Amino acid sequence: MKVSERMPIVAGNWKMNLGPTEARDFAASLLSDLVTVRGVEIVLCPPAISLPAVSAVLSGTNIKLGAQNMFDAERGAFTGEISPLMLHGLCEYVILGHSERRTYFGETDDIVNRKALAAFEHNIRPIVCVGEHLEDRDANRTERVITSQVYGSLKGFPAHRLNELVVAYEPIWAIGTGRAATPQDAADVAALIRALLVELYGAVEAATIRVQYGGSVTTANAGSFAAIEDIDGSLVGGASLKPDFAEIARQTLKAKGARGAR
Ligand code: PEP
Repeated sequence: MKVSERMPIVAGNWKMNLGPTEARDFAASLLSDLVTVRGVEIVLCPPAISLPAVSAVLSGTNIKLGAQNMFDAERGAFTGEISPLMLHGLCEYVILGHSERRTYFGETDDIVNRKALAAFEHNIRPIVCVGEHLEDRDANRTERVITSQVYGSLKGFPAHRLNELVVAYEPIWAIGTGRAATPQDAADVAALIRALLVELYGAVEAATIRVQYGGSVTTANAGSFAAIEDIDGSLVGGASLKPDFAEIARQTLKAKGARGAR
């Protein structure tokens, strides 16, 4: 697959913000602007409890819905968890292994891998996050950390369905800090991720995987990340809660040039 055939993707991670009524109203307020951006897949990821309310707003539009987390089992004694069966048919995407889940909820590469496999099984597209701590970067361990996360989290997927996978490179020190990575740093790690995916799945299949950058993406820098060949869009936290979120998608489209619908 040529680079130009991968559909750019911009996802908004609302984190633990906006209950059902607020989420519905906010999604409705964004919608008329979002639907005008064609050629970029746009995904809104509200908190789980707000998914049905946002789903109702997005119904019949080209804007996709994503969850922020999911358990790997279908049902059972897992208090507080949400199963892939419950998300199936509601969400097209699920964010997995976000650094906040890895840090605050003890998610390991193995857990993230099991969840991603379950997502594939239930036809939910995983957006799997990887990224290094500042101490790792400062100690020149970025390559080692990313390699271990990619091998641990992204193994064993069905090779013919890798176009459903999105990998988000999110340096932890850039998340919510206002200190984005430089485009060069993001390009270097995105190229590393792609090379590792080639080792895991071969060049042809790996070329279908979309890679996002995430970490303090705004309307001011989204275009510079999207201009990078190995980066197909962004995973956006704080700026996805602002009215100009559509502008990030627009900047992405401008940087990539319009591509066919997926
Ligand atoms: C995120 O939550 O994935 C994220 C990248 O947050 P922010 O854009 O606020 O840095």
